[in-house]
Amino acid sequence: MKLTILGSGTCIPNSKRGSSGYLLETPKSKILLDCGSGTTWKLEKIGIDYLEIDHIFFSHLHPDHTGDLVPFLFATKYSHIKKREKPLFLWGGKGFNNFFKALKKAYGNWIVPVGLNFDELKGGSGHFQDFKITATKTRHIESSLAYKIEAEGKSIVYSGDTDYSESLINLSVNTELLIIECALPNDISKMSGHLTPGEVIKTINESKPKKVVVTHLYPECDEENVIETIRSNVDAQVLEAQDLLEVSI
Ligand SMILES: [Zn+2]
Ligand SMILES: [Zn+2]
Repeated sequence: MKLTILGSGTCIPNSKRGSSGYLLETPKSKILLDCGSGTTWKLEKIGIDYLEIDHIFFSHLHPDHTGDLVPFLFATKYSHIKKREKPLFLWGGKGFNNFFKALKKAYGNWIVPVGLNFDELKGGSGHFQDFKITATKTRHIESSLAYKIEAEGKSIVYSGDTDYSESLINLSVNTELLIIECALPNDISKMSGHLTPGEVIKTINESKPKKVVVTHLYPECDEENVIETIRSNVDAQVLEAQDLLEVSI
């Protein structure tokens, strides 16, 4: 599996970090995890045809994770050169169906390409072409989800936005790669519904992933060396998320 980080930032404008978006490639599937603003043009930047995306799984419906859904869908309607031919699946937690219906009410058919499917996930697992995905609730907002994607005998876990969460730890046990948020630079500035570096360390030490990408970094995190703090307190290999960073497992 190959992960490409399309947006390692948050809702705060940052010249180096776009809003949340992650591309996962398995031999037969192209999957987006979240679709924050800028995700669609970043696909183009790395040479991925946006018409080839099979699934988008949303961790939750905050604008920094969903802002590029409308531009993405609108682009799929542009058929001057090439048409989207395969089905597209959109998935989110509780409330996703109403969210998408509201977008449809606002934008009408402009955002409904041929072969579009959408549905809500309440947790549990599903099998698709060549991967399995498991969703579990996290402590960010009522409908927030973390995901585990398994393919080729390996797994990747994406925390989405979350506070310290037993369900995330259980999902991440012994995973090859954990993509985990770290919202602010120290435990004093803790923002409810997000992880501090101390809680990231605790989550890693309890779940023992082999490799970790720390992401969803606010500008304050770049001012202090959050990654080094985490790295020096865990056994796993720790990478700082950067837009367009590729990680293969
Ligand atoms: Zn966020
Ligand atoms: Zn959020």
